[in-house]
Amino acid sequence: MGSLITALASYCDIKQRGGSWHIRIDDIDPQRAAVGALQHIRQALAAHGLLGDAPIRYQSQRLAVYQAARQQLADLCYYCNCSRKSLQGLRLYPGNCRHKSAQAPDQATDQAPDHALRILADRQVRSFEDGCKGSHDFVASTDFGDIVIWRRDALVTYHLATAHDDALDYSHVVRGDDLFTMTAPQIFLMDKLNLKPPQYAHIPVLTYADGTKLSKQTHAPALNNAAPVANLGRALWHLGQLAPPQDASVVQCLEWAVAHWQLDAVPAQLAPFQEQVYR
Ligand SMILES: [Zn+2]
Repeated sequence: MGSLITALASYCDIKQRGGSWHIRIDDIDPQRAAVGALQHIRQALAAHGLLGDAPIRYQSQRLAVYQAARQQLADLCYYCNCSRKSLQGLRLYPGNCRHKSAQAPDQATDQAPDHALRILADRQVRSFEDGCKGSHDFVASTDFGDIVIWRRDALVTYHLATAHDDALDYSHVVRGDDLFTMTAPQIFLMDKLNLKPPQYAHIPVLTYADGTKLSKQTHAPALNNAAPVANLGRALWHLGQLAPPQDASVVQCLEWAVAHWQLDAVPAQLAPFQEQVYR
């Protein structure tokens, strides 16, 4: 239900602006992106009529462009081989490796074995406007420090891949506010890549009454794809939107939702998930 709420909010917001809605699968990390889970997400979206206006994009198919982005940032970067243990508990990277260069010790592969690539933070004050949370200022050096853009296992980081794609491909990004803290580092990277950030809106995430997020770990019940209209109605209710007509089909329900969508009506905190309501 939590994922449906975020997907529906982004669908309604984008469609109401007359835009086209795109689905992207962030599957950079092969260990996290389980094939079964992707299939499950695609089926759930389709069952609820949430079809993208373009083929689904997969970050795993764009590695060459991330490599190019990395090259573009090379002058601002340095290799870091600090152990995870030595950085444990630190909020900001202390800069132990700043004296090193971004020149890979192994030129053949252009990747330093067992080194992460960090980008130097700066002291500039940047700000952005969030459709749900208002305006927000940040300073890279004190808010998140020298973040990793390329992992020690030779994979692009979520930050760099997402910053690149969001700026290049989208005018508006509507997503769950569990990703809100990612926004400032991503805008910083966009700036360094000379890309214009999209407009953001971070939708509150669905929680239980005690504030814990719904997830597999907290045994959130699976969405019943056989009852899409009921699910859409409940999602709209959580989002503070008007209820669709009772006998609406999936398509009518979505048309209604788009026509009546009000981002301003989304509450700062969603009404908590109540299991009994969904049985
Ligand atoms: Zn280091």
